[in-house]
Amino acid sequence: MVNRDVLVLGEIKSGNLKAVSFEAIAAAKEIAGNGEVAAVLIGKEVQGYSQEMIAFGADRVIEVEHENLRNATSDGYAQALFKVIDEEQPDGLVFAHTDIGKDLAPRVASRMEAGLVSDVTDISRKKEGIVFTRPLFSGKAFEKKVVTEGLMLATIRPNNIPPLERNSSRGGAVESVDIEVENLRTMIQEVIHNKSEGIDLSEAKIIVAGGRGVKNAEGFVLLEDLAEVLGGRVGASRGACDAGFCDYSLQIGQTGKVVTPDIYIACGISGAIQHLAGMSNSKIIIAINKDPEANIFNIADYGIVGDLFEIVPALVEEVKQMKVGV
Ligand code: FAD
Repeated sequence: MVNRDVLVLGEIKSGNLKAVSFEAIAAAKEIAGNGEVAAVLIGKEVQGYSQEMIAFGADRVIEVEHENLRNATSDGYAQALFKVIDEEQPDGLVFAHTDIGKDLAPRVASRMEAGLVSDVTDISRKKEGIVFTRPLFSGKAFEKKVVTEGLMLATIRPNNIPPLERNSSRGGAVESVDIEVENLRTMIQEVIHNKSEGIDLSEAKIIVAGGRGVKNAEGFVLLEDLAEVLGGRVGASRGACDAGFCDYSLQIGQTGKVVTPDIYIACGISGAIQHLAGMSNSKIIIAINKDPEANIFNIADYGIVGDLFEIVPALVEEVKQMKVGV
């Protein structure tokens, strides 16, 4: 077995480590074999997060802190990461397939002349090497790729590679790297949070998504009720976004977010191919639609033919009752 030393970029958002950071550690372990997995945390104040990365399997954590790293910028994060790469000389790097990972991974790959496999949903050790699986053609096919030589880079799609079990008694070294972050071409002055922000849609385990059948913004309040009792997030079709029922940040599909939750509840969504491109790999799909011929039923695991304005409130009540009974 070839062993490799692998770096993982952890991501902190709104005061929490993103769950995909733990999935990235599991992915890195698969690549590393008996090699070392070291997590890199970049930001202004990152010390509070290192122990959690270790609990999820990182052997070591490298903290890179600087005032100019308070908010993620391409230039700043790249400077920090290149400094760590120069010092560590890793054999592999794993990023989350998030805005930050999608931005940094190709930069690093280009600079290091390394092989990058992006949007990976599975990693396995085979005799031909580390085999990365990634979806193609909006999830209709999968390809398997190996990096034949040199540094190996991957971005992993959230919610696909299970994290290792959390073990708070695991030990690991924590180090910090001194860095001057300068000559930034862009600086973020202020971050204005969207009011719909909570768990990242692409990381949500349960998504209640609404389409044009939801009729208006008030209809989306019903979906928010269901999402809340289930501990999930609300998403939307482009039809619903175009109609002004909700914010475009909720759009799922070919030109929106790609999601793979455990449960996807599609309410009043017809199932256009461009919508399926963003959610067809969800583990369980439940469709609520009054048209029994709607295309969404062709990919749904469970279908309810009926009026969502009757079904969604009934589901909310049912889940509330179940919780009372627990
Ligand atoms: P509709 O197709 O109008 O479907 C509404 C559904 O609601 C119907 O099936 C109807 O039976 C049902 N319904 C109505 N009333 C009720 C009720 N009371 N109870 C239950 N069911 C009800 N779309 C995306 O979603 N994401 C994308 O990223 C995306 N990208 C695109 C990119 C391109 C280049 C193009 C051309 C299109 C893209 N689209 C995308 C648009 C896509 O083609 C569809 O137009 C869109 O998905 C339709 O949205 P919808 O299902 O909400 O609306």
